[in-house]
Amino acid sequence: MKPIALALTAALCALTPASFAAEASFDAKSSKPAAFKFERKERVAKPAAEDDRLWITATVSGASGRTAVVNAGISIEEIAADSVGGVGNARMTQRLTRLGIPFKAVPLAQRFHAEDFPAEDAAFHNYQRLTADLQGLVAASGGLASLFSIGGGWQGDKQIWCLRLNTTAKGEEKSNKPAIVYMGTHHAREHLSTEVPFLLAKYLVENRDKPEIAGLLAKRDVYIIPMINPDGAEYDIATGQYRMHRKNTRDNGGGSVGVDLNRNYGYHWGEGGSSGEPDSDIYHGPSAFSEPETQAVKKFVEDRLDTLKILLTFHSFSELILYPWGHKNGPLDDTKAQTAYETLAKTMAQWNGYTPEHSSDLYIASGDTTDWAWGAHKIFAFTFELTPKSMWDGGFYPGAGAISSTFAANLKPALYLLDLADDPYRASAPLGLTRAQPSNPTTGGR
Ligand SMILES: [Zn+2]
Repeated sequence: MKPIALALTAALCALTPASFAAEASFDAKSSKPAAFKFERKERVAKPAAEDDRLWITATVSGASGRTAVVNAGISIEEIAADSVGGVGNARMTQRLTRLGIPFKAVPLAQRFHAEDFPAEDAAFHNYQRLTADLQGLVAASGGLASLFSIGGGWQGDKQIWCLRLNTTAKGEEKSNKPAIVYMGTHHAREHLSTEVPFLLAKYLVENRDKPEIAGLLAKRDVYIIPMINPDGAEYDIATGQYRMHRKNTRDNGGGSVGVDLNRNYGYHWGEGGSSGEPDSDIYHGPSAFSEPETQAVKKFVEDRLDTLKILLTFHSFSELILYPWGHKNGPLDDTKAQTAYETLAKTMAQWNGYTPEHSSDLYIASGDTTDWAWGAHKIFAFTFELTPKSMWDGGFYPGAGAISSTFAANLKPALYLLDLADDPYRASAPLGLTRAQPSNPTTGGR
């Protein structure tokens, strides 16, 4: 494949995987990656729509009882005193019925909502480790950090955690300081986008006493929400192999799972670049803000409109810095804002090496976070598409080796925005006057 074609087809998660179609047989009309060319394809599990396997818990005891279950075709994975758990299907449960063995069966994905990454990617945070490590940061922060939930996911058993760094206000207390929010993992399979905001939180906590960091933290209200879609993130790793799952876990019926959260926001919702078909990977949901995850973000943002000036949402992959609009072509009508966006994006691109552009410069996508944040509330909003550049460099699953280098590349942009959160228009002020001069944060702390 020609390099230029590769660059153009390195589709953004924030937009649509449809542009993989030519090279990668990606069926944009469904959630199913068909014959996906992927260097780690052995780690990609069958998508749920094709996976009729069940987790079966059978009430048996003793070796003879367990043998009966195995003989029904079920692979036992878990043994308790009076039951076994294992993987099978509906045909096998009929055999248990005929044998008179009581059982419960749930879809495999449901049972394994808290399983784990493949062993080689154990450095990534699943929901449980993220929760524990965020709590650990709070404990280690000397009172700087606090943790609260902005809501729950579709399944209702997980929290969307928000770590707050504020030298005076805790939890959901009001603060008059200018605020910034960093988000990750709207899209389930973009696990690297959990790691970067988490490491940013860790960096800020660990370096809170360094003069340049202490100075920033003293005057800002910093919110970090590393996992907007905890249900989806867990679902993607539920079998111990990656599922290539993008959406949340809403049961659409008919075997289709999930709404694309980054098409569910309520600014020009349901227009181009999103789909009304539930089995599409870019399904925009039954209505704007139909999903608990996007409702949680909406409430979080709208509770802080007086102070929240900048929103940075991490996705992967393609190495891009994107800004509004996504739902239509062309620059913003507001030329002052357009200039500020361009300056901010180009400045940050110098540090992370990503390509700055309008979201719609590749193709239209409506209902995303940044269009809503800017369109509805005039919050400066960026999408960073993290490493790698292409599917052929690892795509959504670049491996644990990408974590620290990707964070390092994006630390300075993140601190730059933090500094500008009082007035992002300072970015385009003449040099030497009020333009931000970010410190060099790339030494120490990592
Ligand atoms: Zn994404």
